[in-house]
Amino acid sequence: MNVNYSLVKDYQRPAFKDQSKIEDTVAKILHKIKVHGDQAVQAISQEIDQQQAQYIDLLPFDDYAIDQGLKDAIKSAYRRIQKYCQFQIKDLKNDQFSDEMGDFGFVYQPIERIGAYIPGGQFPLISTALMTLVPAKVAGCPVRVACSPSDHPALLAAASLAGATQFLHIGGAQAIGALSYGFAQTAPVNMIVGPGNAYVNQAKAQVQHRTQIDTLAGPSELLIYANQIKHPEWLMYDALAQAEHDANAISLVVSESTALLDKLYTLLADHDKGKALLANDNIVLLLSDDQKQSLSFINDYAPEHLMVCDESMKTALFTNYGSLFIGENSAVAFGDYCAGPNHTLPTAGSAKFSGGLSVHQFLKVLSTQKINNTGRGVLANISAKLAAAEGLIYHQKSAEIRK
Ligand code: NAD
Repeated sequence: MNVNYSLVKDYQRPAFKDQSKIEDTVAKILHKIKVHGDQAVQAISQEIDQQQAQYIDLLPFDDYAIDQGLKDAIKSAYRRIQKYCQFQIKDLKNDQFSDEMGDFGFVYQPIERIGAYIPGGQFPLISTALMTLVPAKVAGCPVRVACSPSDHPALLAAASLAGATQFLHIGGAQAIGALSYGFAQTAPVNMIVGPGNAYVNQAKAQVQHRTQIDTLAGPSELLIYANQIKHPEWLMYDALAQAEHDANAISLVVSESTALLDKLYTLLADHDKGKALLANDNIVLLLSDDQKQSLSFINDYAPEHLMVCDESMKTALFTNYGSLFIGENSAVAFGDYCAGPNHTLPTAGSAKFSGGLSVHQFLKVLSTQKINNTGRGVLANISAKLAAAEGLIYHQKSAEIRK
């Protein structure tokens, strides 16, 4: 074959088309909601999605009239996600130590009010209802507001099973605004989690000054490190699957072997969808000089999903990724739906500073201190010296008066 593969050393993650336009649109939506409240949420929802923004009463899971096979699959996925969440916090416990100065500890406290965005613009992401709400429930967050532009019965059923306390039928940036500023009977939430398209993701970025967010989980990405391949056809479908999420979604394949890239290229070029995604750079095959260059590229790119085909590779070689899939058995689609670990993952390089959604993110770590009589004297001397040096006279007095 004679394909001119792009080189790893030259590849850069493309910026989203119209990024500044999206930022501007989202800023205007959020400003209108801040100023005009529910009325703006309603008008924007009608204008963009031709939808009435409203709460939907959730039924018990078993009351939804959906296909029994789908119901069983939702339940199985739910159980696996719950099992992983319970594993994540099994050793987390409030703790304290005591020394000559007193008792010092920390307390895990669930965030009180959380909003879970469940994408539904192109596809109703039933699995995201489980992925966002189950960890919040396991963490013990009492108010869990699900929010989606989709009212697909299976999505509502999954939200009900996963423990949504309310379901708000709104999508896009206006949904993030409604969660952050409050809507109808529901007060503002303290944290918003969940993935979404570029508008949703941008809105999460813009409300961060007032509402905590999980991570910037935008349009999907996959990087397949094809350093050896046993099942090229499996990998072709992994690349196609990731790219079907969004026009901005990208699947990269990195390899040091032209022969291995040729295998994948042949399959993709013979497939209608594959051919179109290759032409549009939603799937990109990248050639690397050697393993050192591949690893350096992968860790710098910090992909949302990283699939390493050679399952004998040490995981410690990889330092920046949202979720790692080791060996060709580990389809990203399994992770998307039901393996257990969360599918709400950092994109656009944010895996350099953030992991994916986990139970931990729903817990605040609060510190406690109880000073005894000995501690009172000793700490007063230290504090007074530091306060005097800083010029904070009442800090100094507050310490000295306790000597
Ligand atoms: P979505 O629910 O995220 O977004 C749909 C909403 O976007 C619409 O309701 C609308 O209000 C708004 N919107 C669309 N076009 C607009 C425009 N021109 N102006 C203003 N608002 C507009 O659903 P989606 O579009 O199907 O996207 C789902 C996204 O979630 C995909 O990008 C997918 O890759 C991503 N995803 C990411 C992860 C992750 O963890 N990173 C996981 C799952 C899905």
